[in-house]
Amino acid sequence: MSSGHNRDILADAASRAARYLDTLDDRSVQPAPEAVNRLKDALGETMPELPSEPEDVIALLDDIGSPATIASAGGRYFGFVTGSALPATVAANWLATAWDQNSFSSVSSPAIAPFEEASLRWIKEALALPTTAEGTFVTGATMANFTCLAAARHQVLKKAGWDVESQGLFGAPEINVVVGQEVHATVFKVLSLLGLGRDRVTVVPADDQGRMRSDALPALEGPTIVCIQAGNVNSGAFDPADAIIDHAHKAGAWVHVDGAFGLWARASTTFAALADDLERADSWATDAHKWLNVPYDNGIAIVREPDSLRQAMSISGAYLLASEQRDPIDYSPDSSRRARAVDVWAALKSLGRQGLAALIDRNCHQAQWLAEHLRKSGIDVLNDVVLNQVIVHFGNEKRTQRVVDTIQNSGVCWCGGTTWQNQPAMRISVSSWATTDDDIERSFEAIKAAHEEIAP
Ligand SMILES: *Cc1c(COP(=O)(O)O)cnc(C)c1O
Repeated sequence: MSSGHNRDILADAASRAARYLDTLDDRSVQPAPEAVNRLKDALGETMPELPSEPEDVIALLDDIGSPATIASAGGRYFGFVTGSALPATVAANWLATAWDQNSFSSVSSPAIAPFEEASLRWIKEALALPTTAEGTFVTGATMANFTCLAAARHQVLKKAGWDVESQGLFGAPEINVVVGQEVHATVFKVLSLLGLGRDRVTVVPADDQGRMRSDALPALEGPTIVCIQAGNVNSGAFDPADAIIDHAHKAGAWVHVDGAFGLWARASTTFAALADDLERADSWATDAHKWLNVPYDNGIAIVREPDSLRQAMSISGAYLLASEQRDPIDYSPDSSRRARAVDVWAALKSLGRQGLAALIDRNCHQAQWLAEHLRKSGIDVLNDVVLNQVIVHFGNEKRTQRVVDTIQNSGVCWCGGTTWQNQPAMRISVSSWATTDDDIERSFEAIKAAHEEIAP
C-alpha cells in the first residue's frame, strides 16, 4: 500500500469522525429506532466473498454506524457512569493504533513500557496513592477489581502458608471476603472468577446512602479480604474508609477499594475529603474510561505491595528472557494488548493537575445544580448529592418508567432507569468533560417537561 493510500484513508476517517463529533450537539442523544434497524439490516449480509476497497469499508461504516450510535461522546448523556473521550485522547488513541505496538514487554515495545511507567506514576500522583505502588492497565474496573483481588488472594494465602498460584484453591485455607450490601455487581462476578464464590461472602448492611455500616462489621480472623466502595454507582456515596481500614488492618486483612469513578474525587480540591484515608488501603481499582474521559476500554489496577501483584500475574514458566527493564506483562492478567497507557498519558498531559481538578469539580457542581433545580420543581431527589450522581423518582414505578422513556425519546438528554433501595428510580450521572452548563440547563428543562407532561 502506498504512503498516499494510507494518508487518504486516515484523512477520510478523521474527517468523518470530526463531522460526527461536530454534529452531535444537534442530533438526538438516543438514536432513531430506524437508524438502528437500518444498521442491523445492513449487518445481515452474508460474509463477503470478494475484497472491498478500504475507503468503501469506511464510507459504509460511517453510513450505517454513525446514525445508530448513542451520543455518549456529547454533553447530555447521563446514563450509567459514562465519560466521553477528551480530544487529545481520541487523537492519541488513533496515533497509537497506527503504531500498533504490542505492549506486553519492553522488548516487544520499547516505547509503550515507559509510557506505562509514566502514566502509572502520574495516576498515583493525581490520586495521591503511595508512589511505590505498582499497577497495570486493563479493560475496565471489572478487570481492575479482578487483578487487585488476585493480588489480595495471593497475599492472604501466602501469609497462611499456601501458594495459590501453584496449588490453586483445592485444599487451601478458607478466605473470608467482606463486602458492603451495596457492593457493585461486578465484584461478585470477579469473586466467582477467582474461585472465591459469590455466595460465601460476608455482606455488611448499608445505610440509607448505600454506605457500608462500619458499626456492623464482623470480627475478622484468618485470611481476609475487605472490599470498600468509593463511589456508589447510584448515590455516589463513599464507604467510611477510616473505620473500615482500621478494623481490617488490626486483623491483618487486605483492604481493596473499588473506586471505579469515586476515586477521582481525590484529584479534586473541593471534593477530595470524601475520599480521605483511602491511601491506607492495599489495592485500588479504577476506570480511566469513566471520569478521566479516555476512549474505551481503559481501567487501572494499583497494588501497594508490588510483589503481591507480580507474584499473582507473572508467567512463572518464564519463556521470555527476563529483561533489566520493567515488563508490563509481569503485572497484567493479559499478555499481548494495546497501548492503554498512551490514552491515559494524553488525558493527564492535556488536562494537567488543574484541568483534572476542574473537570471533577465542574461535574459535581453541575450535579448539585441539577438536584437543586429538580427539587424546586417538585421532583423527589432520593440521595444526598455529594458527588456527581443524582437519583430521582417520579411517584410510582409505572410513572417513573414512563417519565424515563419520555426523557430518552425527547432526544435532548439520556438518563437511565435504576433501582434504589427497592424502588424504581432514574439516575443522572454527570461525568463528561463535554458537559457544559448550557447542557445541564437544557437537560433540566427536558426532565421537568417530561415530569409535567406525564399525569401522576
Ligand atoms: C462501572 C463500575 C464498575 C465496573 O466497571 P467497568 O469499567 O464497566 O468494568 C465497578 N465498580 C463500580 C463502582 C463502577 O462504577
